[in-house]
Amino acid sequence: MRKTKIVITLGPSTSDLEMIKALILKGVNVIRLNFSHGCHIVHKQSIQKIRQASKELGKEVAILQDISGPKVRIGKIDGVLKLAKGETLILSKRKDLKNHKVLDISYPDIIDMVNISDEVFFADGTIRTVVIDKDDDNLHLKLLNDGELTSHKGVNFPKTKISISAITKKDEEDLEFGSKEDIDIVALSFVQNRQDILKAKDICKKYNFNPMIVSKIETAEAIENLDDILEVSDGVMVARGDLGAEFGVTKLPRIQKHIIQVANVANKPSITATQMLTSMKDNPFPTRAEVSDIANAVYDGTDAVMLSDETTIGKFPLQAVEVLHDTIKDVEKDYPFEKDFKPQNDSDAIAKAAVQLSSNLHKEALVAFTSSGCSAQALSRYRPKENIYAISHSLKTNRRLSLVWGIHPLFVMEETNNPTKLLYDFVTKLLNENRINLNKRFVVTMGEISGKKGATNLIKLLDKEGMEAVLKYDF
Ligand code: PGA
Ligand code: MN
Repeated sequence: MRKTKIVITLGPSTSDLEMIKALILKGVNVIRLNFSHGCHIVHKQSIQKIRQASKELGKEVAILQDISGPKVRIGKIDGVLKLAKGETLILSKRKDLKNHKVLDISYPDIIDMVNISDEVFFADGTIRTVVIDKDDDNLHLKLLNDGELTSHKGVNFPKTKISISAITKKDEEDLEFGSKEDIDIVALSFVQNRQDILKAKDICKKYNFNPMIVSKIETAEAIENLDDILEVSDGVMVARGDLGAEFGVTKLPRIQKHIIQVANVANKPSITATQMLTSMKDNPFPTRAEVSDIANAVYDGTDAVMLSDETTIGKFPLQAVEVLHDTIKDVEKDYPFEKDFKPQNDSDAIAKAAVQLSSNLHKEALVAFTSSGCSAQALSRYRPKENIYAISHSLKTNRRLSLVWGIHPLFVMEETNNPTKLLYDFVTKLLNENRINLNKRFVVTMGEISGKKGATNLIKLLDKEGMEAVLKYDF
């Protein structure tokens, strides 16, 4: 089974039920809904279709709600604004209807935070300018290259410390919507520090919403505060679109390795995102460079790779997923398995020992009985060669684990405080569903008290004899 996970973004190319089913069958693990686009009615329909597709196929996927955060954008432009190197452009607090070289901006207060000689980039860094003058309302920018601008393009200030709230009014409304829908994972855009995530969590709490929180790392500030951000997040995204605009694309490979490595050490899943297969928006085949990029993200240790435009507006969404799948499968033939990390706590030390046992004794799979998902995640951190089967009494936990490297959420089981009953239920269910014969050899991690977070305190070798013994019980 493939270990590195696939996240796709739903959009016009992929929104109908049959297509969603086809994508799930191709091996998609997580479906992302981008709240920078589309309205709540459309997102609600998508959620219903995803759940229906899962039900019909008997295969669960996680739904990731990506909220837009304070992405700075220019206002409306009539048609296309052609720009030439050396010209000046004005970024203004006010809209000037008469002069088309004066652009307004979604957060006018930012004008005050920018200084002369700071850089201002537009449209994912494709149009670069530098501030040559400023007054109360305006930044005067000199263009460093030719280009074209259209309405609502993004603006980046790579050298400027921008202090705007990471959670906008729209984000709060989106989180309230998420709380009422069946959302598993929330991705927060443009977080800068730990406070931003805590604020989002407070809002979620208000709506009784407890999703997995993925922080999108897309600014220099977020990279500076990475450890702090990870401490309060459940995962991170290497948001290469905005990172590339902030730093310039040539710095991306090093930044990507850094974020993934820090996330691996902290045992938080990471998603590598943006332009993984851009050429496949219009072509059924990838470039050599794109395939290498996917492979390198996997070698770097990412938990998941993500498609955006390729599956939202691309012409070949299924082929793109197939390329991801096939590339990852090939890389995983000689993946650097069994990574060494210092255990952070008891259940982590148990996980490390279980992975070593499974390798030394040539077992076929690791099985984690897990309530919050933590003990399955602890196994994943050590990157075992064997599959990790996660069994939980919570469908929510199972779905979230879809994002985590190497974990196959098998099924939901009834909660019990009796470890023997847990094993009995597990083996019975596998036999009933014809999923194993009794010759399988597992390493199992479990807690004596089921349903309690961090309570994993047992490692058990489960083979034919053990399974037969368990089945003799009469529960
Ligand atoms: P976005 O985030 O697609 O929402 O901008 C990902 C990125 O910046 O790479
Ligand atoms: Mn982004």
